[in-house]
Amino acid sequence: MAEGKLIIFSAPSGSGKTTLVHHLLSKPELKLSFSVSATSRAKRPNETHGKDYYFLSAEEFKKRIDAGDFLEWEEVYTDQFYGTLRAEIERIHSEGKHVMFDVDVVGGLNIKKQFGDDALAVFVKPPSIEELENRLRNRSTESEESLLKRVGKAAEEMKYADQFDVILINDDLERAKQEAEKLVSAFIG
Ligand code: ADP
Ligand code: 5GP
Repeated sequence: MAEGKLIIFSAPSGSGKTTLVHHLLSKPELKLSFSVSATSRAKRPNETHGKDYYFLSAEEFKKRIDAGDFLEWEEVYTDQFYGTLRAEIERIHSEGKHVMFDVDVVGGLNIKKQFGDDALAVFVKPPSIEELENRLRNRSTESEESLLKRVGKAAEEMKYADQFDVILINDDLERAKQEAEKLVSAFIG
């Protein structure tokens, strides 16, 4: 492989992007490695530090912003910071792999802007906001407050879809998984 590429999956929370990203990561032939973001939100019971996220306190997160450690960062929800560490990209490319991102829509477009044609930016679109809310409820990971915050933000985030390289509709999961695989494999060549 010449230079490692970057695959960005962005979407409103609850669209199913993490599910699709995990599917892609399970395909060794795609040579993808997940960019582990840092966040100051609380860890969910099924998550592992260093695998799903680097869980930092808000204070530690702000220190690392000041140190210039982030390629991009955002306060996605009030007091909940998320960001991509520059060191992650270096680590993954030095392993000869392509970087797989699961980031919010603004972060995704920010990364696309920095890497241009080396990056493929995919917007994962749910069939509707109602279905997104159903999925978040069924996932049972959020408090009612957190869930409503995510659903409330989703309509705003949908407006960014057209700025992505591709819109991938996640209606039937099996179909969406296959389409995701096709897109990524065509992009990395
Ligand atoms: P995100 O990372 O976008 O927040 P997740 O991948 O966690 O979304 O998906 C949200 C929930 O919806 C999860 O419980 C997941 O199993 C479920 N889900 C994902 N895709 C589909 C689909 N096509 N149909 C029904 N449920 C889905
Ligand atoms: P969650 O709390 O559900 O894991 O993620 C909330 C949102 O933050 C999702 O849209 C997720 O993609 C986004 N996110 C995760 N990591 C990053 C990151 O490094 N940067 C940005 N900008 N958003 C991120």
